[in-house]
Amino acid sequence: MKPEALVRPEILALSAYAVAPAAGMVKLDAMENPYALPPALRRALAERLAVLALNRYPEPNSRALRELLMRRMRVPAGMDVLLGNGSDDLIQIIALALARPGAALMYPAPTFVMYRMNATFCGMRALEVPLRDDFSLDADGFIARMRKEKPAVVFLAYPNNPTGVLYPRADVERIIAAAPGLVVLDEAYHIFAGETFMDALPRHENLLVLRTVSKLGLAGIRLGYLAGRPEWVAQLNKVRQVYNVNVLTEATALFVLEHLDVLEAQATEILAERERLGAALAALHGVQVFPSRANFFLMRVRDADHTYQALRHQGVLVRNLHPGITQALRVTVGTPEENRILLNALKEAL
Ligand code: PMP
Repeated sequence: MKPEALVRPEILALSAYAVAPAAGMVKLDAMENPYALPPALRRALAERLAVLALNRYPEPNSRALRELLMRRMRVPAGMDVLLGNGSDDLIQIIALALARPGAALMYPAPTFVMYRMNATFCGMRALEVPLRDDFSLDADGFIARMRKEKPAVVFLAYPNNPTGVLYPRADVERIIAAAPGLVVLDEAYHIFAGETFMDALPRHENLLVLRTVSKLGLAGIRLGYLAGRPEWVAQLNKVRQVYNVNVLTEATALFVLEHLDVLEAQATEILAERERLGAALAALHGVQVFPSRANFFLMRVRDADHTYQALRHQGVLVRNLHPGITQALRVTVGTPEENRILLNALKEAL
């Protein structure tokens, strides 16, 4: 029997999310924090992990971890938090819960591909509203489309991936106020943007704030969290796989979040390096770099396929956005040494 006979046509039409092999490469393709935890913390963490009961299931939606996150991430009083196996998991939970027949999931595009993919997985209509040529948001156009289509949920990446643009706060406020359904503000890069709608949660009954610890420096443990009103969290919690956050992730997050200052200091270094790298990229001939409020840059080049391959041959891995965005690459801000290697390789590759 052939898969084509049974698998849904919209799944047959998809490609699996591509992750390039990265062994031995300068890895600038996935917006990871390039810094490790200090050795003393790693040893202390190892001791914590060594005594875990791996023979036991985790506590579902761990209360200790939710309480620590709510405290450290300044979730307003009266709100609740749902834990995910990365924020990808939470995007899927939202789509699964809202996928009534005919329901739509809407977002400005280009943006994070998982919004479209999860709409497809769950049988929702994916409505893409194009950004302007400079990747700014036409809020009036977006609101007009929202009024017409009445999406069950709007996703706004704040700042946006892969463009790095942070939409004006007033525009986001207007979209939340005009939305006929839920608005999920995806703040995966909030640490680099220095802006958040977390404190606005009590003012909007249709707002959810989605976060991840991935870009903070913990991409490997897979932990996301969704903050919002308890009545929304209670419904979404029914869709969550019971044991979606494993004991190693829970214990690691409980430990590292007590040392959040270490990760925040790393983010400060990344921000300083973002300024230096942005200026150096802008000075290169044949590169158009877009301003970024996140830990990566979108850049246009003459021939993205060629530049991508030439960088790869020099041991530097970036993300080729072509053909989603024509002739564009996305590069993560790395350590000063990694960025120096990138810049030298780019001079050869252009
Ligand atoms: N949202 C946005 C905007 C992202 O760019 C990413 C990762 N690239 C995610 C969510 C997913 O993050 P994770 O699943 O690692 O939490």
